[in-house]
Amino acid sequence: MAVEKRNPIPVKEAIHRVVTQDIFTKHTTVNLEDSLGHILSEDIVATYDIPRFNKSPYDGFAIRSEDSAGAYSENRKQFKVIDHIGAGSVSEKTLGQNEAVRIMTGAQLPEGADAVVMFEQTVEDGDTFTIRKPFEAYENVSLKGEETTTGDVVLKKGQVINPGAIAVLATYGYTEVPVTQKPSVAIIATGSELLDVHEELQPGKIRNSNGPMIQALAEKFGLKVENYKIQQDDLQSSIEVVKDAMATHDIVITTGGVSVGDFDYLPEIYKAVDAEVLFNKVGMRPGSVTTVAVANGQYLFGLSGNPSACFTGFELFVKPAVQHMMGATAYYPQVVKATLMEDFSKANPFTRFIRAHASFSHSGATVVPSGFNKSGAVVAIAHSNAMIMLPGGTRGFKAGHTVDVILTESNVFEEEMTL
Ligand code: AMP
Ligand code: MG
Repeated sequence: MAVEKRNPIPVKEAIHRVVTQDIFTKHTTVNLEDSLGHILSEDIVATYDIPRFNKSPYDGFAIRSEDSAGAYSENRKQFKVIDHIGAGSVSEKTLGQNEAVRIMTGAQLPEGADAVVMFEQTVEDGDTFTIRKPFEAYENVSLKGEETTTGDVVLKKGQVINPGAIAVLATYGYTEVPVTQKPSVAIIATGSELLDVHEELQPGKIRNSNGPMIQALAEKFGLKVENYKIQQDDLQSSIEVVKDAMATHDIVITTGGVSVGDFDYLPEIYKAVDAEVLFNKVGMRPGSVTTVAVANGQYLFGLSGNPSACFTGFELFVKPAVQHMMGATAYYPQVVKATLMEDFSKANPFTRFIRAHASFSHSGATVVPSGFNKSGAVVAIAHSNAMIMLPGGTRGFKAGHTVDVILTESNVFEEEMTL
């Protein structure tokens, strides 16, 4: 059988093809407490002004600023305290001349008051106090509507719900939140050499590390995962398993079997399910055989069996695809510049991704490869929080050079492709 000729496409082009598919998850609503990590499917508007009323940002006394005019150390102005309110209470009194209300942080200013004197700025004596400086109108007052007014768009469709967004939704009383569904993920590790974690090693066999790793990556990303049992390199049963996974999940991720070996059945499996292959060769190392296909409005990710390549494929293609299909406005990997801290002398015929550890300090970002870094490496993945990205057609990066780095632990995305 002749080996199929594959044409590598640049990494950027591959990511672009993935995130421009007309594949989206459905809109739904979830309870506020279940909304973390979802993408908003609608703009969220302020349902009232915040603050809702002029309020005190301090513990102190609410006064009429005009009564403080002309105060200075030799001419202290005296006020009489006519009421006392904590946060949540509203005074029924209206301030007259030289009157004040003792008021706590968060409480609504009483009628007539337009300034707050902090306790520290007063000398108290029974139910009176004096001050030694004049106050301007609205000094020490949180003004009604100063943060948002009714109808303001406070959260945008397409943004991820983070803890701050939860606070905003709670503020405005959104018990139900309009979001897109998170895709469900099927993971199928393929390879007749694979054993389960609990199995004894046998000659020629290795343990399946990709399955558990991809499951962890997906779960860390907030996705529901079904990890299928290890799939032997057998065409017919592989087709059946992939069909089953497609019928019950939004995304199917396989690892292994994407290359041109005699038992690499992924290309044939994709044919059998009528998949359109977006690409099957990417100008990158590791993972050049990474394949992404679309069938039945679903993504099929054929990640390489080599653990480092598998990890890289998930970061570069699966995460952006998931962001895209959930309607996120930002789905491109976050790329930062960092100073390389050791020489990397290997040539880079293709764009090279190196599992690495990035550190940040006041003097900037630095990065080092996180260990033995061939495509089959596992341990370096565990010690990485980033991937160094070296452009193709280069060689001889030295300590001190500035390199591009993708942060892999943060799950923060960009609206523009910067890699
Ligand atoms: P393949 O992509 O099937 O050609 O596999 C490439 C390399 O990755 C081979 O050395 C496989 O033994 C290894 N490999 C494949 N699948 C896994 C897996 N699930 N866990 C760990 N290593 C794997
Ligand atoms: Mg294989």
